[in-house]
Amino acid sequence: ATPTALMVGMGLGAEHGILIRSGKAIQIAQSVQDVVFDKTGTLTEGKPRVVGVWAPGGEEELARLLWAVESASEHPLARAVCAWAEERGAGGAQAQGVEAVPGKGVRGVVGGSVVLAGRQEWLEEEGVATEGFAGEAEAAYGRGETVVWVAQDGRLVGLVSLADTLKPSSKEAVEALKELGIRCIMLTGDNERAARAIASQVGIDEVRARLLPQDKIGVIRELQAQGRVVAMVGDGINDAPALTQADVGIAIGTGTDIAIESADITLVSENMLGVPRAIGLSRATFRKIR
Ligand code: ADP
Ligand code: MG
Repeated sequence: ATPTALMVGMGLGAEHGILIRSGKAIQIAQSVQDVVFDKTGTLTEGKPRVVGVWAPGGEEELARLLWAVESASEHPLARAVCAWAEERGAGGAQAQGVEAVPGKGVRGVVGGSVVLAGRQEWLEEEGVATEGFAGEAEAAYGRGETVVWVAQDGRLVGLVSLADTLKPSSKEAVEALKELGIRCIMLTGDNERAARAIASQVGIDEVRARLLPQDKIGVIRELQAQGRVVAMVGDGINDAPALTQADVGIAIGTGTDIAIESADITLVSENMLGVPRAIGLSRATFRKIR
């Protein structure tokens, strides 16, 4: 590959909002076999909103507990939950000793009782029985929603479900990648059923769900150990190690600074078609050289 051809390729990318960090990145991008996508904020808008509530003790009481533990968190789920809670009059007193457990939820003390808000498996690990709302939750998972389970002093007191919107370009991007002969895989911390519902809407058959932040890097390593050349697409703080581990890390320009710093390629817009375009461009660059 001549330096000139690489420069031309990188220039073309820049014109289309695809910022390629180095000649090496464009070189590796041409041989990518697997593209691994983070779900939230990458395939979806990353703007969840509460769409379902189950609160036997009343919505206002559930809102009060949730606001108290979630209001200190920057997590997109926490922000959506707090916006919903504030509409129901919650606010004011935050929980004491709030602890965020990455990939699982939050814990805090509200008026002397311990409140947990997070995923189902985490509450179960903490000894909370979740059968009470299993039917409601299953229906929400089936629609691809994220469910936040709430317990007070070890007892389930309610749940809220949140929906996120798919980016319109996600499905087209996956189709275009498949046409290039590339396998697409989705990673998420979400529940398996919710993840599969979203994946089928974008045309992805391979899903790794219930991942903790550190597990994403493990999935990339596993694929590389099988001899695959892997690109990872992500936007979040939690995605940074996986972006670095991937042969080609692709960050969404609207994402976090850490993701962008860890990436080889940055897409200026949140249009996911930038992913197949970047790979197509790298292939074209090398075809011309040969
Ligand atoms: P993702 O991989 O979708 O970006 P995370 O790794 O941040 O998600 O979190 C995984 C799961 O943990 C979420 O789907 C949610 O069920 C739970 N969770 C994480 N943080 C919170 C929070 N602040 N409040 C409620 N649930 C949370
Ligand atoms: Mg994300």
